[in-house]
Amino acid sequence: MQKEKHSPQTKIVTSGRNKDWNKGVVNTPVYRASTVLFDTLDEMYHAVKSGAENKLSYGRRGTPTHFSFQEAIAELEGGFATALYPSGAAAISCSLLSFLSSGDHLLMVDSVYEPTRKFCETILKDLNIETTYYDPLIGSKIESLIRPNTKIVFLESPGSLTMEVQDVPSICNIAHRHNLLTFLDNTWASPLNCRPFEMGIDVSIQAATKYIVGHSDVMMGTATTTEALWDRLKARSYALGQCVSPDDAYLAHRGLRTLAVRMKQHEKSAIEIATWLQQRSEVDHVRHPAFESCPGHEFFKRDFSASNGLFSFVLKDVTKTQLKQFVEDMTLFKMGFSWGGYESLIIPAFNLSKIRSATSWPTSNVVIRLHIGLEDPKDLIADLTNAFLRL
Ligand SMILES: *Cc1c(COP(=O)(O)O)cnc(C)c1O
Repeated sequence: MQKEKHSPQTKIVTSGRNKDWNKGVVNTPVYRASTVLFDTLDEMYHAVKSGAENKLSYGRRGTPTHFSFQEAIAELEGGFATALYPSGAAAISCSLLSFLSSGDHLLMVDSVYEPTRKFCETILKDLNIETTYYDPLIGSKIESLIRPNTKIVFLESPGSLTMEVQDVPSICNIAHRHNLLTFLDNTWASPLNCRPFEMGIDVSIQAATKYIVGHSDVMMGTATTTEALWDRLKARSYALGQCVSPDDAYLAHRGLRTLAVRMKQHEKSAIEIATWLQQRSEVDHVRHPAFESCPGHEFFKRDFSASNGLFSFVLKDVTKTQLKQFVEDMTLFKMGFSWGGYESLIIPAFNLSKIRSATSWPTSNVVIRLHIGLEDPKDLIADLTNAFLRL
């Protein structure tokens, strides 16, 4: 059987295992390095000459610990190569900065992760790069927003908090017809559940902090791209000084190895809990991409192979005191930013209209985002039942 034919579940076990790097040990060890020593001038020049991939030359350019993980992510995402960043936010900002110049125009999905919007409204704005936000459900009508100076269309599917699923292939099709680049924040799907490059994406970004690391103990971001764009992404990331520690790269790769089995449990428990929530009288509606009621659900069915543990629901009208009682006394669902670890999390989001500008969020009711961890879903439902009783 050829390597490319293996399923993603197999690839997360085998990817990035290269004897040059791991010397036969299953996990490529942690190579701590800043300086690398050379005996000859030739050796030194060879290590740093342009196009030299995966050669030890200097710590910031990576070590075998990084190369293994980078190769694994590139293979799983289906791209040519992967750059590493110290956070998902850094992967987003630095990959955008690698391709935008002053005077360019950016099309950004309205349901984007809030810090990405902040980056556009501050750093990009100061660099004279204008951002126009678009409705996540715009599809091929995005064409009407393209200007002569538009350079990039940025997608995030499903959207943060509100979970709209985008018609990624249609948007990419239009974008490429106008010679634009397409970027996707692919964190929700992880490298397992959709094929960004087959849908026409040029740069696929992961907040590896979430499901790849999977254990809530490392911050990391990845940007994977095509052969055509790799040299530029790599050179500019290097110029921006982006690198991660070998210890973190090791932990991220170790987390990746169990992604498929964790994801199955996250998905199963989340669907059970979301189905249960849908029947609660206190719940206005549930936003879960795998549910027919989710905007863009048809694209989820077409483009994703599975869902995960992250979804939202809207509570019917509650007072601030009721909300406090709801979220503050949970025994298993704890409040915390981030998601994708093995633990369950709950986070309320108020006033979503403040972080939407191209679309209007139809309710002032509180949105609750849940991350369903690996606890027994029966215990999680009991925890939520008690929370509803406190309401
Ligand atoms: C968390 C998150 C990020 C940012 O990742 P960090 O590692 O926290 O910087 C980016 N995009 C999405 C969709 C996220 O959920």
